[in-house]
Order: sequence, then C-alpha cells, then structure tokens
Amino acid sequence: MITKLMPSTPENITQAAVVLKNGGLVAFPTETVYGLGANALDVDAVERIFAAKGRPTADPLIVHLSGLSQLDRAAVSIPPVALKLAEKFWPGPLTLILPKQPQIPHLVTSGLETVAVRVPAHPVALALMQSAEILIAAPSANRFGYTSPTSAQHVWDDLSGRVEIILDGGNTQVGVESTVVDVSTNPPRILRPGGITREMLEDVIGPIIVLSHQRGAEKGLPSPGLLAKHYAPKAKMILFRGRNAPQSLANHLKEAHSAGQKVGVLALEGNEADTLELAGAVVCRLGADLDSVARQVYAGMRLLDSLGVDLILCRDFGVSGLGLAIRDRLTRAAARVVNED
Ligand code: AMP
Ligand code: MG
Repeated sequence: MITKLMPSTPENITQAAVVLKNGGLVAFPTETVYGLGANALDVDAVERIFAAKGRPTADPLIVHLSGLSQLDRAAVSIPPVALKLAEKFWPGPLTLILPKQPQIPHLVTSGLETVAVRVPAHPVALALMQSAEILIAAPSANRFGYTSPTSAQHVWDDLSGRVEIILDGGNTQVGVESTVVDVSTNPPRILRPGGITREMLEDVIGPIIVLSHQRGAEKGLPSPGLLAKHYAPKAKMILFRGRNAPQSLANHLKEAHSAGQKVGVLALEGNEADTLELAGAVVCRLGADLDSVARQVYAGMRLLDSLGVDLILCRDFGVSGLGLAIRDRLTRAAARVVNED
C-alpha cells in the first residue's frame, strides 16, 4: 500500500474522511499524540488498526467523538460524575470509561462491556470526524510497544505502507496520552495518568483513586492495555528515581562512557544538560518545565534512537501535575528502574 502524507488542508481532510467511510485507515493529529483512526462501527476496518500496529486485540481502543452530543452513540447509563467531567474537560485529553452502547463492536473494547471515549481538542481531528460523520476508534499511531508519535514524521517512520493517509498537523501540544478515568466505579479511578492532571480532576469531583502501575503485575488489571513494558525506545533505557537520582545518573554515565558506550540522556534545559554534556553524554534537552518535558519526551527518545546511542538515561520528575503521567511513561519505557529513596 502506498501511504499519502498530506498537510491538513480542508480538501485533504475531506479526502481522508472518504477513506475512513470506505473502511480505510487515516493517521491524524490530536492534542496528545497522533492517532491511527478507523470507523469504530466497521469491524473489518478496526481489525486493520490492530494489524497495522501489531497491537494485540486484548488492548482496547479509545472511541473518539466530535462532541459531547455524540456520547450516547458510544455509551449508556452515563452517571452525573461523567457528565460533570466531560463538560469541564472536553474537548481535551480526558478519556472516560463507561458502559458501552450495544452498537460498539466487541473488537473495539476487547470484549469488555465498557468503552473508552473522548473528544479530542484538535481542529483537524474534529473536522475529520464531522466530515466523515462517524465515530473514530483510534489508538496512538505507532507500532505496538514503541514510543508514541508526536509528529507526522514519527507516524511515517512507523506506519508508512500500512495506512492510506497521514494528515500532517505539526507537532502535538500535550505530548503524552490522555488521562483514562473509570467513572463506572465510586469513587472514580485514574487508570492511566495523562494530560488532565489528578489535581485538575479533584478540583471538579473531589478525591479520586490513582491506580499505580506495578511492574510484572499486569495480570488482572482493570485496564487491559496497561502493560508493564510500553512506550519504549529501541535503546535500553534506565530511569533514575528518588532523592539521589541526579547523582546516580551522573555516576552511571561516567562508568558507561568510560566503558566506551555511546550514552544518550534526556535532561532539563540548563545546568543539568550542560553538566551531563561535559561528562560525555549525547544530551537531548527537554525544555525547562513539565509542560515541555511532556511535549518532548517521546520525540527525545526517538531522536536518541536515531543517533544510535547504546543506552538512554533519564530521571524522574516527581508526581505533581504532569509529573505523574511522565513518571508512568518513563517507568514503562525503561528496561530498568534505579530507585534510591
Ligand atoms: P491508546 O489507544 O494506545 O492510548 O490506549 C488506550 C488505552 O485505554 C488502553 O491501552 C487501555 O489501557 C485503556 N482502555 C481502553 N478501553 C478501556 C476499557 N474499556 N476499560 C479500561 N481501560 C480501557
Ligand atoms: Mg498507545
């Protein structure tokens, strides 16, 4: 198959909508990461998503809506707390888990009676759904297990020859995936931290449970896609956590560097980056605050992979605000976590 990589002009969005209506695959920008979309009600088209990504069918997809008014086409028995969150955060990086509408195929939900839904805050994603007049099932537009795509080039690198169209909408704004909240339980639970922070959710609905991801404990998780190893770069990555993280990272760099390894580091702009560079690392600067780190962390891993580093070192950024989502992704991307509390 020949993949067309196109700018997101109105004409190209209309063309992509026709492809979707005919059962094809279109990768498109959202505010979080690029999505790989198909008509959510067309089982054959949805099957093609899993094949193109190499994603196991046990990992359910998020159904994208063009607005809150479409919610009852995807979900039933919607509790007041879900409406409260949807009204506050949609369009935006919040995915809600709700009892599914019978018309949503079981392939989309991996056999579950619940469905994940969200309204993306991106003009191209919204225009595409409005033009196609369909619900779009879309996971991230990368090969399964690898780093999520935050630019059209990333999608091209992973999926060219596997999808009909990639709509280029530039770099994505948030950079990490949506927050997944199960509102079918009381109190609601965060199944996956993401672009809408725990603090933002609690301001609206009060205390919320955060299910922390534990390595090797994926069996029996309430969210089937929450595998321990995910979002990973090709090079081996080591994450340093705890009070001594900067020091142990620096020590590790010194050892690996003197053993002749090409070491990449994901670091904050400024002193931290300068010092590590002087110590011999290939430094990818993620910016100076959590918003920038989230926006650039996946691109950073891909960049270091493309430079052929043997090893990637990074450190944790805490749990407040976007720190929690960044910790979740780095922990799952890492081959090893060094915890020195
Ligand atoms: P992705 O599309 O790659 O952002 O992944 C979507 C994630 O949402 C999945 O990997 C699951 O963790 C979660 N998810 C989707 N549907 C459900 C569901 N019905 N119940 C719980 N979690 C879900
Ligand atoms: Mg994904």
